Amino acid sequence: MGGGITGAAVARDAAGRGLSAALVEREDWGSGTSWRSSKLIHGGLRYLQTGDVGLVFESLSERGRLMRLAPHLVWPAEFLFAAYRGRGFPRWILELGLTAYEALALGRLRNFRRRLSREEVVALEPPLASADLLGGSAYGDGRTDDARLTLENVLDAAALGAVALSRVEVLGMLRGGSGRLCGAQVRDRETGRELEIRARVVVNAAGPWVDEVRRRDDAGAGAWLRLAKGVHLSFPAARLPLSRTVAFPSTDGRMLFAIPDGPATLFGTTDTDYAGSLDDVAAEAQDVDYLLDQAARTFPGAGLARSDVLATFAGLRPLLREPGKRVEDTSRREAIRVSASGLVTVTGGKLTTHRRMAARTMDRAAALLASHGVTVPPSPTKERPFPGAPDVPMEEFIRVLGARAVSLCPGLDERTVGHLAWRYGTSATDVLELAAEGPGLGRPLCPGLPDIEAEIVFAARREDARSLCDALIRRTHLFWQGPRQGEVCLERASRLLAGELAWDEKRRREDIADYEKELARSRRFTTPQTPSR
Ligand code: FAD
Repeated sequence: MGGGITGAAVARDAAGRGLSAALVEREDWGSGTSWRSSKLIHGGLRYLQTGDVGLVFESLSERGRLMRLAPHLVWPAEFLFAAYRGRGFPRWILELGLTAYEALALGRLRNFRRRLSREEVVALEPPLASADLLGGSAYGDGRTDDARLTLENVLDAAALGAVALSRVEVLGMLRGGSGRLCGAQVRDRETGRELEIRARVVVNAAGPWVDEVRRRDDAGAGAWLRLAKGVHLSFPAARLPLSRTVAFPSTDGRMLFAIPDGPATLFGTTDTDYAGSLDDVAAEAQDVDYLLDQAARTFPGAGLARSDVLATFAGLRPLLREPGKRVEDTSRREAIRVSASGLVTVTGGKLTTHRRMAARTMDRAAALLASHGVTVPPSPTKERPFPGAPDVPMEEFIRVLGARAVSLCPGLDERTVGHLAWRYGTSATDVLELAAEGPGLGRPLCPGLPDIEAEIVFAARREDARSLCDALIRRTHLFWQGPRQGEVCLERASRLLAGELAWDEKRRREDIADYEKELARSRRFTTPQTPSR
């Protein structure tokens, strides 16, 4: 249970091994932590600092694999690490760290390494100009679309035979005579119907909610998790124009990123203990002011202010408690534990290591299944491409798609074709065919952006989008990329969804109100009197 990256990958792994698998998610795929990450597929340079070389090595190996198996969703990019007088490591340590980082990747990524003088850094990224900038280093790392990586895990699990149901919540566990779990009691949140799912093994991949689910197995279960909140801001790209991801030390010794993301630049993240409601995590005024302060020191010429913030989003890292450690030093490794009644709980980890984490979880499940006389084959995901992966290099794929677009929708420009290729991989052809069906489905959703109306229809028909939040936050990303967070296309997108999902006017209005609630959460920092960070 749990349709974040972890649960989705576990279902994909299980179905790939030929097992009957059911995946339930109480909201939308990726709606918990998984869409709120920094969208990096990386070894985590900073884990070298905490001495977790094994995690860095494993992550870099997964980075290489994902770039091969999901080239439309995980791509290599040049990053720039900026070095400062009086903050972060001395330069020689930075250089040593980057050399170790690239060496641990075993040559699986093109070498981007270059030591840069202060002038070279400013020439590459003018907003970095500041008095205490010393210079920098270019290096290579990976970027992704976290929500769609999660979705493609779900789609592949379903293609392999898993039953995948969103808006279905686990209410409790089913127990056999011996007290061992034999399934879960679930409720369809759309119809209110309750039903039982029988299973020999139940996997709890509920992210920040794993402790809550564990208590449905054992009411006295203590807390395993330490929840660390991470906030991102998004600025219009014009307010912080960057051509590559910039990594830099914060003034309090952490590592921050400014990440160009189409029409926006993402900026984050914070890393603070969190004890509030799991269902109402937001960037509070203090989080935003902290990040703006860091932005002002690193990009002083940009003059970024609260009024420049296009959107915010906040997520919870489900980390395993390690008493005595600072939150930012708590390990990002995964933990897999089996309760006395057989509940397999998997938590921690990273987006980057999701595939390996899922394979390990299913190895543990396989050991439980062995006691039922079931022999489980090894994980097949090491070499299995993701559903949208083209079998030619991306550049060639985009060329072929461009030719198809000319015949199907002659009005579409090159930028839109490239956008569709990177977002959908091979399914971009299906989106093009929809756009050709019309009427007007090839039109942009928001002026000046490459997202088109056909994407909303496709999201509802083929990608299980069931609300504006699903369509505008996780299938497209207008929530943090679009002008006024997609408000300009709300009415049109809502009408397209209503047509697909057979909503009446009341249902449509309720859905718009739900999206507006998300907007309000994203802008909560602008209201006075917010709780403390
Ligand atoms: P979630 O995505 O939270 O999924 C759990 C799901 O379980 C939720 O969707 C929830 O609705 C569902 N659920 C809960 N209870 C129930 C129930 N009773 N019934 C059914 N479903 C239920 N990692 C990287 O590799 N790279 C990064 O750049 C990166 N950046 C990050 C930045 C931030 C700010 C944060 C917070 C994390 C970042 N991470 C990153 C880590 C990564 O995002 C997480 O490790 C990962 O997304 C966790 O996924 P998950 O599936 O375990 O949890």
